[in-house]
Amino acid sequence: MTATTGSSVPVALTIAGSDSGGGAGIQADLRTFAFHCVHGTSAITCVTAQNTLGVTRVDTLPPEAVIAQIEAVVADIGVQATKTGMLHNREIIAAVADRAEVLGLDNLVVDPVMVSRTGAQLIDNDAVMCLQSKLIPQAMLVTPNRYEAQILSGLPIHTLDDMRAAAQRIHKLGAQAVLVKGGGMPGSLRGVDIWFDGNRLETLTAAMVDTSNTHGTGCTLAAAIAANLALGKDLRSAVRLAKDYVSNALLYALSIGRGQGPVGHFF
Ligand code: PLP
Repeated sequence: MTATTGSSVPVALTIAGSDSGGGAGIQADLRTFAFHCVHGTSAITCVTAQNTLGVTRVDTLPPEAVIAQIEAVVADIGVQATKTGMLHNREIIAAVADRAEVLGLDNLVVDPVMVSRTGAQLIDNDAVMCLQSKLIPQAMLVTPNRYEAQILSGLPIHTLDDMRAAAQRIHKLGAQAVLVKGGGMPGSLRGVDIWFDGNRLETLTAAMVDTSNTHGTGCTLAAAIAANLALGKDLRSAVRLAKDYVSNALLYALSIGRGQGPVGHFF
């Protein structure tokens, strides 16, 4: 078949859950890719029924259906960067980790979605162990929030020093770099992330944005990092640019629904 028009474009893949409210998950990831002029492809792991008030139902796809989506995209279109989000159970995590290895998915950003920003655990202990032993070792970057970092490191986190210790411990799982996000921390620590790449241990700050409409922040950050990797940026620059993107998305957060609104992508 001959194309009469068309341009080449970087491609990113998100392996994550659908959020019917459009604030997090696949919907946030694809919007973030589009903002960066990166073509977004997706492998949906589960379908959540949710709005700004909460999640009312989760239907999980069979691991084979997740794998088929990844293989279809990679076999024909090809991807320059991949991000994983809500993988939900051990079977899907194991299947995704296996495909990532076989297909050689590099520039892999793992957002280890397992605890909501309010602290509720979303996946069982088996799934956590699978994430630690199979997927995180393949990651270029893993981006846990405070609660996820506690589970992955086995260390309690109350202070900046605790975040630093957790980042170093999580790095031992085999990811090239770790970004422990301060989102769930109290007060001014909310805007502070800790970066550790085995060499540099750094504190990354961002201006505080006063909004309660923060749904989708974690997804948006990881997707923006993947988008910048697809554009050819090095990892450290991709993280810096993605933090700026999230600061804007918070400034332009949406006041929709009766509960916690999502970050915005129209700016
Ligand atoms: N992915 C899905 C499908 C979700 O529903 C959620 C939260 O509800 C998340 C990811 C995590 O969202 P956040 O970016 O707010 O951490």
